[in-house]
Amino acid sequence: MMFKALLLEQSGTTTVSRVTTLDESSLPPGEVMVQVDFSSLNYKDGLAITGKSPVVRTWPMVPGIDIAGKVHSSSDSRFSVGDRVVLNGWGVGETRWGGLAQYARVPADFLVPLPEGLSTMQAMSIGTAGYTAMLALQALEQAGVNPSMGECLVTGANGGVGGFAIALLASRGFHVVASTGRMEESARLRELGAAEVIDRSTLNQKGKPLQKERWAAVIDSVGGQTLANACAASRYAGIVAACGLAESMEFPVTVAPFILRGVTLVGIDSVHAPYARRLSAWSQLAKEMFHEKIHSMTSGVINLEQSIPAAQDLLDGKIKGRMVVNPNL
Ligand code: NDP
Repeated sequence: MMFKALLLEQSGTTTVSRVTTLDESSLPPGEVMVQVDFSSLNYKDGLAITGKSPVVRTWPMVPGIDIAGKVHSSSDSRFSVGDRVVLNGWGVGETRWGGLAQYARVPADFLVPLPEGLSTMQAMSIGTAGYTAMLALQALEQAGVNPSMGECLVTGANGGVGGFAIALLASRGFHVVASTGRMEESARLRELGAAEVIDRSTLNQKGKPLQKERWAAVIDSVGGQTLANACAASRYAGIVAACGLAESMEFPVTVAPFILRGVTLVGIDSVHAPYARRLSAWSQLAKEMFHEKIHSMTSGVINLEQSIPAAQDLLDGKIKGRMVVNPNL
C-alpha cells in the first residue's frame, strides 16, 4: 500500500521538507497501524519542519507529534480494527515516524482510546497543546489550588497550550490573567475566558527576586525571565506549572520564592507521561471541552503541503490557537 507523507531529510545541516508517497513497508515496526484522520502543528513540529532546533534525532523523519485516527490493523489484543485512538508524544515526530502522513505504525502502548464525545478532528484541535494544559491544570489541582485563592496567570496566551489553559481554568471559575505579545487579540482571549489581558513585556524584564504577591497559580508555556518573574510574584504557597520555553530555555530565578514563600514549581511533561495520566487527561478533556471552545481554539485545517509554510508561521508567532492537519486532503 502506498500513502502520502511529509518527509524531512537532512542535507548537510539543512532540513529539507517535502510531501511524498511512501510504501507501507517503509513504516517503522509496531503492533498497531493507524489510519491517520488528523494530526496537528505544534511548536515542536514547527522546530522539526523548519530545522530551527535539533528536534529530529533520526533521518529521514515523518514529523507530527500528534495522531488521531482509526486502527487499520493490530496484532495487540487491546486494539481492534476501526477503534478510534489518539497519540501524543512518546518521541513520534522526533525519534520515530509521526502523524503528518496518511498512516502511522506505532507500539500499542503509545495509544489511548479516544473518549466518547470527541471526534478525531476535535481531538487534534485539542492535540498535545490541550492535553498538556489539562496535565498542568490537574497538577495545580493536585497541589490544592482552587479559584478562591486568587488570580491565576497564563503565559503564551495566544498559543495552543495557553489558550486551552485559559479556557480550562476559566470554566472552573478561576480568575485568569492572560499574558500575550499580541494585545490586539485581547477580545479573543476574553472570549476564551480571560478576565484580564496583560502585555507580555510587563513580565519579561529582569525583576527583583521577590515581587509583590499576586499569583495563586501559574500555567507558563514560555519559560525564561517570564517564568522567573512569575515565581517571584507568586503568593505564599503559590503553585507554578512550567510547560514550555517559547521565550527561552533559561530560568534566571533565585531560591527566594521557594524558601521564603513556599512556592512550588511543578514540571509538566506530556511526552512520557504514564498511561493512567494520559487517560485521565483525555477523559477530562472530553467532559470539559465544550465544542464551541474547541472550535474557537482552532485556527484552521490544512493539508500536508500547507504544513511546511505554516511551520514557519507558527514559530514566527503568526498563528492563533491550533492548526489541524488533514493528511488526506
Ligand atoms: P504555540 O506556538 O502555539 O504558542 C506559543 C506562544 O508563546 C505564542 O503564541 C506566543 O503567545 C508566545 N510566545 C512566542 N514567542 C515568545 C517569546 N519570545 N516570548 C514570550 N512569549 C512568546 O506553542 P504551544 O502552545 O504548542 O507550546 C508552547 C510551549 O510549550 C513551547 O515551548 C512548547 O515546546 C511547549 N510544550 C511543552 C509540552 C510539554 O510536554 N511540556 C507540550 C506542548 C508544548 P502570545 O502571542 O500570546 O504572546
